[in-house]
Amino acid sequence: MPEGPEIRRAADMLEAAVQGKPLTDVWFALPQLTDFAPGLVGQRIEQIETRGKALLTHFSGGLTLYSHNQLYGVWRVVNAGETPQTNRVLRVKLQTADKAILLYSASDIAMLTAEQLARHPFLQRLGPDVLNMTLTAAQVKERLLSARFRQRRFSGLLLDQAFLAGLGNYLRVEILWYCALAPQHNAAELDDTQLDVLAQALLDIPRLSWQTRGTVYENKHHGALFRFRVFHRAGDVCERCGGIIEKTMLSSRPFYWCPGCQC
Ligand SMILES: [Zn+2]
Repeated sequence: MPEGPEIRRAADMLEAAVQGKPLTDVWFALPQLTDFAPGLVGQRIEQIETRGKALLTHFSGGLTLYSHNQLYGVWRVVNAGETPQTNRVLRVKLQTADKAILLYSASDIAMLTAEQLARHPFLQRLGPDVLNMTLTAAQVKERLLSARFRQRRFSGLLLDQAFLAGLGNYLRVEILWYCALAPQHNAAELDDTQLDVLAQALLDIPRLSWQTRGTVYENKHHGALFRFRVFHRAGDVCERCGGIIEKTMLSSRPFYWCPGCQC
């Protein structure tokens, strides 16, 4: 399952192809959307925003295309006019003079006005997105300490998109290892320094993954690269304390941790 960083990277790829260019062809498979298509020709895609696993394609005329890929949906970038060979069902085509973006197989798609966007039930339930660069560690700390979340165990809290959107299982595992925290704790049990470290890691680790996961050193990123320290590494030696990394199940998902230094 892709997590926030992978969704954001996909959105970056779509933006690089079509952002800011006039749309020359717009096509929707879903009957409730077909009437919008002619009015969007000539408009531009201003931004492709990610909110957790939802993509918000903002058009210059003020409408927003909401799409959530669930398990099956996938976006592709192609040259204008190109039709890839695939068994997938095309749902959306947004084409510019040189490139087009195509959405296949997703069924959770809607066209929203600004007002509808603000009231959208799924989006309303989401917490702030860790890849939204305006979100600060101070705000995350405040959220950790709020009455709603302060007693929640990290094992479940860090998977809950209502707490922070964009986190997922590998990020949960890596963030807790980085902070040397065992998963049964909650924010109410931490001292101020631990809270500061956790709040910062909840932003820094997803953002590092977005910017560097899967890239190599010889590129523009000369700083740290994201890599797994414990995820999928059961039986390996912990690089911090020399303990042996273990695997268990927590909140119905595989969990990896080092009993030697996470307490
Ligand atoms: Zn360790």
